[in-house]
Amino acid sequence: MRQRALGLVDRWTGTRTFIIASALVFLVLVFAGAIGALPAILAFLALAGIAVLRGTLTGETKVVTRAPMAEPVSAAAILGAGAGQAILNQLPDPVVVLDGTGRVILTNRAANALIGEAALGKHVATVLRIAPLMTALQGVSRGGEGVAVEYSVPVPVERHYNAIIRPIEIEAPGTGPAGDPLRRRKGSPVLLLLRDITEMRRVEAMRVDFIANASHELKTPLASLSGFIETLKGHAKDDPEAQARFLDIMADQAGRMRRLIEGLLSLSRIELREHMRPVNVVDLHGVVNDVVDGLTPLAEKSGVEIAVSAPEGLPSVRGDRDELVQVVQNLVDNALRYGRSGKRIEIALAPDSRAGKPAVRLSVRDFGPGIAREDLPRLTERFYRVEATAGRVSGGTGLGLAIVKHIVNRHEGTLAIDSELGVGSVFTVTLPAIA
Ligand code: ADP
Repeated sequence: MRQRALGLVDRWTGTRTFIIASALVFLVLVFAGAIGALPAILAFLALAGIAVLRGTLTGETKVVTRAPMAEPVSAAAILGAGAGQAILNQLPDPVVVLDGTGRVILTNRAANALIGEAALGKHVATVLRIAPLMTALQGVSRGGEGVAVEYSVPVPVERHYNAIIRPIEIEAPGTGPAGDPLRRRKGSPVLLLLRDITEMRRVEAMRVDFIANASHELKTPLASLSGFIETLKGHAKDDPEAQARFLDIMADQAGRMRRLIEGLLSLSRIELREHMRPVNVVDLHGVVNDVVDGLTPLAEKSGVEIAVSAPEGLPSVRGDRDELVQVVQNLVDNALRYGRSGKRIEIALAPDSRAGKPAVRLSVRDFGPGIAREDLPRLTERFYRVEATAGRVSGGTGLGLAIVKHIVNRHEGTLAIDSELGVGSVFTVTLPAIA
């Protein structure tokens, strides 16, 4: 449609030049007195009419150049003879091709990094000394089906690989119509593709570990509950005093199970959103005040004073308010539970900067027993509890600081833990501020 419209415009431009030129000629003739005005107008109109008609019917005048039809492109024409090698070199996984005798006849860059460039021309057994891999390669080379083999290399750092081994099926010319089954003979070339699955294995191991830990943590209070139920049904059946005591313990254990489940759900929710930056504007001072208001009755009961300090005009942070409440809640709650003996908790908010950008620093300090240096790096691991404090204060799940760390990560902030035995602990969270 557009093409057609353009053609008409081109034609019209040529016709118009002709009409303007004839009008000028007639004007000159009239002014020169060579021709009368009326005959001149009639002759001009006749000429113009013919020009318009001719232009429309024949599509004459201007030559319209069109783009030539696109030629079919071939990869070889663009990439040259080394196209195959160039493409293979871009693959992140090692690719090795062996001839029928097991000699390396082709490698890509990733394979060179693994087995060395000098591997070309050598027998595969001299460059990859992996027994199950060699057996599988021989099997495939001797006419077997393609297989996948998993193996590990213990040095220099343990790595796991998944090797995919396929015969290279070469179509023998003149064996029939295209698409005929390919002829495979004994001693055919073999393609070896190695995929590094170390990271996948690590994540898998973490998942298995996590499930084992979570079930273990839940099994302990559950076993205790079952034990007490048996006792209440059995020899404590007629002992109201023992019953009251056992029921208290059972309520404790049920509470622990509830906290564990809540903690696990919380962690999985946060992990799901960990790569999404929170978008709301949050006033951290308001968050701290709300948490402290909620914990004041407990603090008073434990004889602990909570002091909050914050400067005027503290910048806001971009965050998820509920998650930041959880951060402050977990830190102050820990300070209350583990640092209760210090009788005082100081929460300070202050403007700060990180990598030249404005930030807000929140620190929660207690004057309790403190944490040993060797425990500090492990505090944010799931289910990690310090034996000494865990013994003194029951009911911890070891999930609180893991949750804090995940939330802080999601907010692109940092968490620092500083502690000295017998002096106390400071947990500092720094979050990017809104300028
Ligand atoms: P939980 O408190 O549920 O056990 P956390 O992840 O919050 O789990 O804490 C992990 C461990 O760190 C606790 O078990 C405790 O031993 C230690 N801890 C945390 N906060 C403090 C603190 N303020 N003072 C001393 N020890 C602490």
